[in-house]
Amino acid sequence: MTHEELLEQSPVFKGLPGELRALVAAVGVEQRYSPGQRVFQEGDDSTHFYVIEEGRVALEMNVHVGRAEGSGRRAFAAVIGPTESFGWSALVPPHTRTMSALAIQPTSVLAIDGQALQRLVADDAAAGAIIFGQLSELISSRLEEARAKLCFIISLVSHELKAPLAAVESYLQVMLGGYAGEMSEKQRAMVGRCSHRVQELIELINSLLRVSRIETGDLSQEIKPAALATIVGEAMENVGPAAAIKGIALRDRIPDGLPLLPLAPLRIQETITNLLDNAVKFTPSAGTVEILASDHPDFVEVEVVDTGIGIPLEEQPRIFDEFYRGEKADAKGLGLGLALVKKIVEAHGGRIWVESPPSGRTVGTAFHFTLWKSGSGRAPGSKNSKPGRVEAA
Ligand code: ADP
Repeated sequence: MTHEELLEQSPVFKGLPGELRALVAAVGVEQRYSPGQRVFQEGDDSTHFYVIEEGRVALEMNVHVGRAEGSGRRAFAAVIGPTESFGWSALVPPHTRTMSALAIQPTSVLAIDGQALQRLVADDAAAGAIIFGQLSELISSRLEEARAKLCFIISLVSHELKAPLAAVESYLQVMLGGYAGEMSEKQRAMVGRCSHRVQELIELINSLLRVSRIETGDLSQEIKPAALATIVGEAMENVGPAAAIKGIALRDRIPDGLPLLPLAPLRIQETITNLLDNAVKFTPSAGTVEILASDHPDFVEVEVVDTGIGIPLEEQPRIFDEFYRGEKADAKGLGLGLALVKKIVEAHGGRIWVESPPSGRTVGTAFHFTLWKSGSGRAPGSKNSKPGRVEAA
């Protein structure tokens, strides 16, 4: 097959006029890789975009759970074959590889010079529209596949793990209750520690399940008119003891007269509890944590403000990612809380953002989120909801 024929069959370059295809083929060179050989490594500068002519390539990435040393794992994101392409970062800034590519069979590829391709696209807008249109379709379908696969795996693994752990925990409780015979103090302490670790694991699995359920699930069944003040009151009760132990003043300033809001009460309570819990966790003794709400014509904005350690500017874009934990975070926590909070708010059609330090202050953090006053025409969680409208309102 000539390089031009390969491009004609490739989902990204098909449909290009013949002379342009020839120009693209002219800025490509053929390269061969043996099984196990890397085409590029995550973190490398991106110089080339690749179309596979023959063989198979695995795309893999480093996955970190929490921040513990050595927690990194390599995970396959996809395995692709002839006519498929990879190495998109050669076309979009910052031109850094976000995955590694590894040949898993004897493989030959057409390596297209990224800069030359960008120049061709810049000189011919129609060709650019074809290439980038097809490329974005491909990227979104791959993302969709990866997301579906992840949700499936999380939910499968979690369910399979949860049942035996729950059984172990109930046996441990039987032993601790003395129903399986007397235990020495030492045995009791050890079984108590086992039970504690098992409960932590069950809690982790529940968090994973909640994240994947919200991702795939539909909250509309749970939506009903609810009073924000009541939900805030319940969340305050959940975190009250932890705040009291640290000597933190926990205050609620929800104005009277807010209308009932269409929301999933338990989910929003979980959201607010999570934000308050973080605020208490990251605020030193004698600090302050406050929850406020402001009434706007179409929506209500909720704000959780603390006087704590704050979040460095460079970390702020990542804190809502799954498993992300800040540099200053202590040993506990998995980095799932804010990911869950964001999914819940967005499933309600709202928007969430962080400010650290909050405007007009020098320390602390403020998390803001919005809730619509009516669900008019917007199914909660529907792709048509436009949380961004909140800012323009
Ligand atoms: P976790 O609390 O389990 O680490 P989260 O997803 O709740 O995970 O939070 C992610 C990270 O965001 C935390 O590790 C922390 O670095 C930062 N963070 C969240 N809330 C606050 C806060 N109120 N003040 C300072 N840092 C915070």
